[in-house]
Amino acid sequence: MSDLPDRISLREVGPRDGLQNEDPVPTDAKVALIDRLSATGVERIEAVSFVHPRAIPQMADADEVSRRFRRAAGVRYSALVPNSRGAARALDAGFTELEAVVSASDTHNRKNLNRGTEESLDDIAVIIDAAHRAGATCQVIVSTAWGCPYEGDVPVRRVVGVASRAVADGADSVSFGDTTGMATPSRVRALVGEFRSWHPETALNLHFHNTRGTGLANVLTALELGVADFDASVGGLGGCPYAPGATGNIATEELVYMVEDMGVATGVDLEAMIEAAADAERIVGRTLPSQVLRAGPRTRTIAP
Ligand code: ZN
Repeated sequence: MSDLPDRISLREVGPRDGLQNEDPVPTDAKVALIDRLSATGVERIEAVSFVHPRAIPQMADADEVSRRFRRAAGVRYSALVPNSRGAARALDAGFTELEAVVSASDTHNRKNLNRGTEESLDDIAVIIDAAHRAGATCQVIVSTAWGCPYEGDVPVRRVVGVASRAVADGADSVSFGDTTGMATPSRVRALVGEFRSWHPETALNLHFHNTRGTGLANVLTALELGVADFDASVGGLGGCPYAPGATGNIATEELVYMVEDMGVATGVDLEAMIEAAADAERIVGRTLPSQVLRAGPRTRTIAP
């Protein structure tokens, strides 16, 4: 295991990707969850998304949430923006890390953002410029990177082509999103390998869903390839909008539990993250899929 990174950087996406795919919760609960997560040692938190409230009512209070959560020292907060109007709101709200999003699949992009992939990429070039002029960074997230609920498989060269356009336009980093949990270790190897062969210097973040149970296997494969930036969602908060009842994001505490035991540091206090997951479960009022939340760390003992 000596070839694994010594340390990785996790981005907690529960407050955004997670809550966006749950029934709406009160603003107070969102702020409290972000503050709680800020105290777990996690390095990055995706706090909100500046989307139109009609498109995603769950994020209608993004401005208020942004004003109210406490910026903890040592934590980097980011906002997802679907277009340049959202980018302007995020910069106004004081975010210095933006995430612009585009689907590798044209059909998914049209369903999600009402325009084709090429038009989104044109807009993303504008967003990147606006971010840089404001002294902020912009990561470009390529979603449906391992498959699309409408088109099925998306060719690796198509995904890398979309990412390459973003890199050429100045993206500070790229993230590949497994939007509906279609990645497997061999497919992770294929996409990461092809991307790295074209862009060995570009920072790469990966975002896996556990919809089909391969989430942590994909993380391990990516670790072996030297990837050191990952998204995960506390408790496994969130779901899959295309498969009612299905699991969404990989659970942060499950990822932390596995990699820390393999000698890969995350900075996250596992017990604190499990407590945050219990909070998240109370907030959404349903049982979350995280198994480490149920069972606890492997060394947790019970009275004989
Ligand atoms: Zn996700």
